[in-house]
Amino acid sequence: MESLEVGQSIVLLITGFSQNGWGIGRHNGQVVFVDQALPKETVRVKVYNIKKNYVQAKIEEILTFSPNRVQTSCPVSSTCGGCQLQHIAYEEQLRLKEQILTNALRHIGRVSCAVMPILGAKTPWNYRNKAQFHVEISEDECKIGFFAQGSHRLIEVDECLLLCPELNTLYHLIKKHLQVFAPQMKELHHIVLKSNHDSSALAAIFVAGRELEGLTKIAELLHKECPSLASVMENIQKTGSSVLFGNRWRLVWGETYLQEKICGLDFAIDAGSFTQVNHLQMEILYQKVLEYSAPAKDETIIDLYCGTGTISLLLASRAAKVIGVEEFAPAVKDAQTNAHLNHINNARFIAGTAEKELPRLLQAGIRPQTIVLDPPRQGCKPEVLQATFAMVPAKIIYVSCDPATLSRDLRVCAAAGYQPTMIQPVDMFPQTGHVETCVLLSHKKSQASSPSL
Ligand code: SAH
Repeated sequence: MESLEVGQSIVLLITGFSQNGWGIGRHNGQVVFVDQALPKETVRVKVYNIKKNYVQAKIEEILTFSPNRVQTSCPVSSTCGGCQLQHIAYEEQLRLKEQILTNALRHIGRVSCAVMPILGAKTPWNYRNKAQFHVEISEDECKIGFFAQGSHRLIEVDECLLLCPELNTLYHLIKKHLQVFAPQMKELHHIVLKSNHDSSALAAIFVAGRELEGLTKIAELLHKECPSLASVMENIQKTGSSVLFGNRWRLVWGETYLQEKICGLDFAIDAGSFTQVNHLQMEILYQKVLEYSAPAKDETIIDLYCGTGTISLLLASRAAKVIGVEEFAPAVKDAQTNAHLNHINNARFIAGTAEKELPRLLQAGIRPQTIVLDPPRQGCKPEVLQATFAMVPAKIIYVSCDPATLSRDLRVCAAAGYQPTMIQPVDMFPQTGHVETCVLLSHKKSQASSPSL
């Protein structure tokens, strides 16, 4: 059987699809990944990379078009790494995400529980309340935009169609001022922009290798031009670090936090803390967490990876006691402030990693009825899952932003007697390949005594 070679052109029928927007076909048994090809399309492609188990190829010509292919509206959609699915009709994006999740659950997780239809977004554009731009400043020139997919090559952008209009306006203003102040902003390498629930308050964070001379002046100008700007912060971080923010923060103008309203509660959230990027879909996701947890009045709940305490505080009014655990200390401070703000006094927050703090709570004899897990993309460390099982909660609610690590962790849960009874994907990130899922797991014994679950 002939193997493919770099530079070779072949015709392929696309039969599968991957989360990062690649169509998948087979040529003489070899798996071929084709960027931006869609299932059921026949494409002529050119091979450009050969790996041990697969081949990568680029479309030369689409011979049969999928009816789900749509014209992209963004001028940099094929180069910027942000939107992997923009060339696909939204309804089909939703179907593909359900399929990606189901495949991961079946193949990695060995999960047989049915997946609920994904909850799609009413507005699949202009939904993002946060964006992170890369900046490159040379002697007298400033380039600003996103990195090209899988590289550190900067693609300049004028606007982002996923971003809310107010942040696009703020971005234009910053871009304009950076051209003038470039010589005084040389160490600047990132800008993070954020808005609150109704875009009535915006924040701009400038991340740089050292303090920026020109930033006070830029902040003054921005404040005059953009009345909803509530915060300008500077964060000191080395270029090329794997973590976006360093530990040193400076308030340049305004306040350090944004005022938020989430599911009827008030929040003051530090500009550097994690917040979900899609406000409307976040509320839908949180409602699912509340529905699945349905706590009794005398329950104790542990909310791991609790961020600024959003889920914890929503649960607190329904339960006896909530303990939140979060590693980012400023977010824990926010959570405590937010508890006071909402007159909630049955929520306690611990600053530390879930892997250290949960075993400590176990040792201290804490036995919650429900544990919420909302880890970052890497999923839960084994010691977190082991301590979770040792507490023998009746329910685990797992909120995940990565189907593969979710599936891996669900397999570990099943071995400990926790089976998924509800799996609900929510589309938090339209036009991108990201899939958010909320899973309710019940213990086999509790399931037997609780037929309503
Ligand atoms: N539940 C929150 C945040 C979820 S994002 C919300 O809905 O807003 C994941 C959070 O986990 C982030 O706030 C991150 O800082 C935190 N985190 C990451 N690794 C952690 C760890 N090992 N232990 C505890 N928290 C962690």
